[in-house]
Amino acid sequence: MAHKSDIEIAREANKKPIQEIGGKLGIPNESLLPYGHDKAKVSAEFIAAQKGRNDGKLILVTAINPTPAGEGKTTTTVGLGDGLNRIGRKAAICIREASLGPCFGMKGGAAGGGYAQVVPMEDMNLHFTGDFHAITSAHNLLSAMIDNHIYWGNAEDIDIRRVTWRRVMDMNDRALREIVCSLGGVANGFPREAGFDITVASEVMAILCLANDLEDLEKRLGDIIVAYRRDRSPVTCRDIKADGAMAVLLKDAMQPNLVQTLENNPAFVHGGPFANIAHGCNSVVATKTALKLADYVVTEAGFGADLGAEKFMDIKCRKAGIAPDAVVIVATVRAMKMNGGVKKEDLGTEDVEAVQRGCANLGRHIENVKSFGVPAVVAINHFVTDTDAEIAAVKDYVASLGSEAVLCKHWAQGSEGITELAERIAEIADSGMAQFSTLYPDDMPLFEKIETIAKRIYRADEVLADKKIRDQLRQWEDAGFGDLPVCMAKTQYSFSTDPNLRGAPTGHSVPVREVRLSAGAGFIVVICGQIMTMPGLPKTPSAEAIRLNDDGLIEGLF
Ligand code: ADP
Ligand code: MG
Repeated sequence: MAHKSDIEIAREANKKPIQEIGGKLGIPNESLLPYGHDKAKVSAEFIAAQKGRNDGKLILVTAINPTPAGEGKTTTTVGLGDGLNRIGRKAAICIREASLGPCFGMKGGAAGGGYAQVVPMEDMNLHFTGDFHAITSAHNLLSAMIDNHIYWGNAEDIDIRRVTWRRVMDMNDRALREIVCSLGGVANGFPREAGFDITVASEVMAILCLANDLEDLEKRLGDIIVAYRRDRSPVTCRDIKADGAMAVLLKDAMQPNLVQTLENNPAFVHGGPFANIAHGCNSVVATKTALKLADYVVTEAGFGADLGAEKFMDIKCRKAGIAPDAVVIVATVRAMKMNGGVKKEDLGTEDVEAVQRGCANLGRHIENVKSFGVPAVVAINHFVTDTDAEIAAVKDYVASLGSEAVLCKHWAQGSEGITELAERIAEIADSGMAQFSTLYPDDMPLFEKIETIAKRIYRADEVLADKKIRDQLRQWEDAGFGDLPVCMAKTQYSFSTDPNLRGAPTGHSVPVREVRLSAGAGFIVVICGQIMTMPGLPKTPSAEAIRLNDDGLIEGLF
């Protein structure tokens, strides 16, 4: 029997009015700001009023290093949330919003898959509640005000060769990566090199996702460094006087969005920063709100655990003052096989030895997660092509490390297929056995922070960095930024900086190409290798297949 596509399943969903979903979490109707019938924002006033309440348990879903075979973190996040509700627990999920760029490029949807999805999936993958458009506008308002400031006399003495603030749009458009702006004569300003990033790479996105409330948002916006003067001193967004108006544009976007799963359980979908030059998790506001309203909150971090979970712990949890009670590491037989050297075309053939070889990657992620003091369980996200022997190989391997792996069939069966994991995770979270600690303290020198992550998480021998980079880090320490966490930007495909180095490599070095200060978001970005902040479209973008059919329904959106 052919499987239904994600969009076909989503379209058959029996959605409940959003007020009913909010009701499950005790959100009164007047505190829901509906966007149509099936989406709503939760009002800032209501959120502020929950301050004194106890927090529920926080469960992080992360994964092995991604392979083109696909792992299913979002699918498992949604499935586990439904599974917890099915076994009678009050659970909510928190995931990121989708970007239009990858949606028209090649990535699958961002709303989960199979019978573990969030709906309305079309809206979620398109304009949703307009948050990303608001972020784009706020970002570009600042860009416009910088060039306008220069045009009208440049009172701040900005060195126009050192304007670091670029422009953004929510589209994969390689033609805009590097541009020359202000061409066309005196009336158009001073020509200079500039460029576009995709909206999810904007520091405004990272700020929205880390800010605690509107006041904190405005302060962080003001702290953004937009350019440098001839004497190399930084010019901030506050100097350009854009922070107030940007916060106004972001006022609604700061309120988290509530939608539902296919099984009518509450799902917060809010924010979506890049997982390389930013931290890759949904907003702090959404997670903290969910923790006040539900007994269990399941949330996802981008990429593999070496990047996603590390940043979740060392950036998001540290900054927000929250801590995970349990971690789920998603693995698939297919991905183990690819890590074991099997090509994508050959994934359909049983190969137990390749699964065993590939398990080294999973093993290291388990060790790493546990090193944060948090218990971890492996979720084997079942694909219909997996054989019993291959599944047993993963389970045996994980058991040999003294950990446990649970087979999950939520993609095919919804919550019914994931009750065993739900029971186990609830038990672990309730036991209070987690003793979370970040990997490094705030006051560790910046370069040592990079070394700590490289050695303890990536298992590299050394970090390579020019004097220029080390001097820059020291300068920032002198300027008072030494307490910030570091945000590593490297390939998601390997523990190392070489995307082709699968498994669990050792003995490698981590070369640091560049460091950037995100003073508003509150981290130092450490760039190791080529990092793309404006993706391009593939030769045959999925946009070519997306259209409205004769009934006015969207076709081709996965
Ligand atoms: P991630 O969050 O790790 O990027 P997703 O959960 O978004 O991954 O899943 C990526 C794609 O893989 C989705 O299109 C989803 O439908 C598909 N997928 C996930 N799990 C399964 C599964 N068990 N069987 C088949 N397809 C799956
Ligand atoms: Mg995902």
